[in-house]
This record gives sequence, C-alpha cells and structure tokens, in this order.
Amino acid sequence: MDARLQQIMRQIPSMDRLLSLPWVAEYEKRIGRETIKSLISDLLARQREKIIKDPDTAFDAETIAEDARRLIKKRSAPSPAPVVNATGVVIHTNLGRSPLAKEAVDALTAAAASYSTLEYSLEDGARGHRNDHVEWLLKRLTGAEAALAVNNNAAAVILALSALARDKESIISRGELVEIGGSFRIPEIMALSGTKMIEVGTTNRTYLKDYEDAITEECAVLLKVHPSNYRITGFHSAATREELAALAHSRGLILMEDLGSGMLIDMSQAGLSGENDPTVAQSLKAGCDIVTFSGDKLLGGPQVGVIAGRKDIIDKLKKHQLLRALRVDKMTLAAFEATLRLYLRGEENAVPTVEMIFRKKEELLPAARRLARKLKALLKKTKVQRCFIDVVPVSDTVGGGSFPQSELEGFAVALSLPELGSSGRLAERLRMSSAHVIAGAADDKVLFHMRTLRGKDEDRIIEAVAEILCIGKENAPDA
Ligand SMILES: *Cc1c(COP(=O)(O)O)cnc(C)c1O
Repeated sequence: MDARLQQIMRQIPSMDRLLSLPWVAEYEKRIGRETIKSLISDLLARQREKIIKDPDTAFDAETIAEDARRLIKKRSAPSPAPVVNATGVVIHTNLGRSPLAKEAVDALTAAAASYSTLEYSLEDGARGHRNDHVEWLLKRLTGAEAALAVNNNAAAVILALSALARDKESIISRGELVEIGGSFRIPEIMALSGTKMIEVGTTNRTYLKDYEDAITEECAVLLKVHPSNYRITGFHSAATREELAALAHSRGLILMEDLGSGMLIDMSQAGLSGENDPTVAQSLKAGCDIVTFSGDKLLGGPQVGVIAGRKDIIDKLKKHQLLRALRVDKMTLAAFEATLRLYLRGEENAVPTVEMIFRKKEELLPAARRLARKLKALLKKTKVQRCFIDVVPVSDTVGGGSFPQSELEGFAVALSLPELGSSGRLAERLRMSSAHVIAGAADDKVLFHMRTLRGKDEDRIIEAVAEILCIGKENAPDA
C-alpha cells in the first residue's frame, strides 16, 4: 500500500473509537457487544474497499460514525417493522399485501402457541389432513368440487402445470404471456413446471380458432392467465371462458385459469368488475376445470395459493410429490381458515382489505379534515413559519395487480414544510421516524391517503411529524 493510501486509511475512525461513542451502550443491551463489533468491522472493511477502489472517495469520521449508528440501530430493532401505509395502495406488495383481520391474527397466535389438530382427527385418534381445515370452506364459498391450499399462487400454478401437463403441451394466448412482477413470468413458470408452451394468436387478438388449430395429440391444458397490471384496450379480442371450456372438453383437455387475485365476493359496488375479473365462482361456473388464486390479494387473508375446481383433478394434485415442498404452514392455515370463516358468515367487511376497498369518499373526507386539523394544531406549537396543509381529492388504487384501470376516489392530507427541505426529504424523515410512515407524493407535497389508514395510524402520523419537529409527546395536541 502506498504512503498516500495509508495516510487516507488512518483517517478512518478506529473500532475502539467507535465503540466508545455514547450511544453504543443503549444498543449493547439489545444485540450485545460482539454483534456491534462485527457490524462495525464489516462497515469499516467496506469503507477500506471503497478507498482502495477510488482513493479520492470523500469521507469524514463523523459520517462513518453516523453510518455505524444507523446500521446498529437498524439491527437492534425487530424486523420486518410495522409501518403506516399512507400510500392509498390497498394491496401494497412491498408493504406485505393484506393486513389480517383480528379473527385471523387470533387464530394464528393460537395455532402458533400450542399443539393443534393440524394433521390429526379427533374422531379417529389418527392422522388427519391439513387441507381439510380449509377445503370445505373453499368449496362452500366458490362452488368448487374440491380445493387445495399451497404456499402461494405461484406455487399453485407450478403444482397444477407439473401434475397435469409435464412433458405435454399447454396452449396460451400471446396476450396473456405476462410478467406479474417480482419475477413471476408466465413463460418461465411454464418452462419450470416442464410443460411445453404453445403460444397462439397475437398480443391484442386471439380467437377460439387459434387455440383449436394448435391442439395436437400432445396437448393437455388450455391455460388462461389474468393479465395483472397489464391491460390491452381498444382493438382487442379474446376467446371467452365458455368458448374455451367447450373446446377443451370436446377434445378431452383441461381448461385452467390463473385468476391472480381470487375474489370471493362481487366487488362491482366498489366499481371493481369486468370481463377479466370474475369471482372464483363465476370463473368455475363459466366452465374452467380448475382455477388458481392468491390468498393475500383481494381475498384479504395470509399468503397462500389455492387451486379449486374438479375433484378428480384436485385429487391428482393432492398426491403429487411437489405438494410436500409447497404445503401451507400451520399459522398461515389457521389465519386463512379464520378469514374464510368471516366470508362464510357474510362478515367480509371485517377483512381489512375488503373494508378499505369499500370505504366511500364521503367517509374519507371527514377523517382527512380531522387529520388536517390535528396537524395544523401541532404546527402552531412550533417555530415553523411556512407550512402547507390541505385536504385534497386523490385516486387510490387496489394494487397487487388487481383492477389496474379502476381508481378508487379518495381523500388525502397534503403536507409540505419547505423549511425542512424538499418533499422527498420530508418523506424520508417520515419513513425513518419511529412510526415509519410511508406517504404518497404529488406537487412537491407529501400525501397522507386516508383510505389505507387503520386503527391508530392517524395518531402515528401526528407522532411522526412531532418527532421530526422535535416536539415532546406532552406538547402534542390530542384533538
Ligand atoms: C399475483 C399473481 C400471481 C402470483 O401470486 P403469488 O400469490 O404472489 O405467488 C400469479 N398470477 C397472477 C395472475 C397474479 O396476479
């Protein structure tokens, strides 16, 4: 190492110096001194690497100490951390999709904390099946002859295609060869399950005849896939489920639909309906032999995937070796069962995702006004000279690839505090505050969308802003 590089390296603060900083003691209680040492050691090693790569990298001891504090603070807190979703995106994939109903959380906790009848029949005193807990509910709620729950919808699609069409052909429209996000790409999923993909039609138009002409002796499945966030509008046509079912059944093939979201109830009241978005029951009734869907999108339950449909087909899937690798864990199963039970009782409004989607803008307006009032009262107690707080109409979204074209009319509270920097900076400080508020943004203001706020979230937003403005709890307004 040359002299200049050595000289630069010496400016990096030492381990001992960092360990002697006053904040270390607080975190030591939570993760221990050895862990703190190893975090600092990794950080210093990364810094040295950076300098070796580019000796002109600017740095100072203070910044390194601050980086160390941030990293150690982050590792000292439980993770994933709860956040306030003020984005107005109801099924926010990065924020964990659907929050669970209280009933589901209770069931999950109970299943986690004790032995249970997960795979045990009390009547026989012998082995039972974990799928039995939810199958009867799924049958009841969808009209399916049989149903099977697995780890997630991606697993449901892979299991179904592996069991039904491995080394055979599956026909799909070019308009449905989509990528769903998070690297779920239909052609790759089909390849992974060992089926040969036969593409028919064009991106915007696929006719029944295209499928018909492609059927060979090797064909096993006609596959229909929900296009998720992708929409073709205008000059567009696709074969209907009824047409595809008639064709499939006349040739001894299976019609399978990957529905994505999996609605158990009609959501047209919230403006959510369309040819692409049938309920599970509608898709089966139209002639699909099996359908697959997620448990944590519009259904509002935990992460599971469901395959529902013809009993002879589901029986085959139940015997497939892959199922062992894709099965649902007991806590998830308990939460899913409790969520389905809410639908069974017609209490789907207790499912948070459903409740938030159905919130009317008339309910959101007074809530937004209340939050704006609280924020104004808070700001009055500070030295902040310029601030902007207003209630604005916004369009919220369902998220999770469901109903991308439908906007849910809502209200948000817009906030800007120019003295604290840009709205991007304010958004960052809200994220990094103890309450972790994730806000929307528009016109250099942060937006708190009311639709996705739950429980004490309004108070958490007030706390976060108070924290940013360094106001103690005792000074925060209560109304
Ligand atoms: C979301 C989605 C998937 C993936 O479902 P996961 O439950 O996330 O595995 C598959 N297909 C479609 C059409 C989807 O919308």
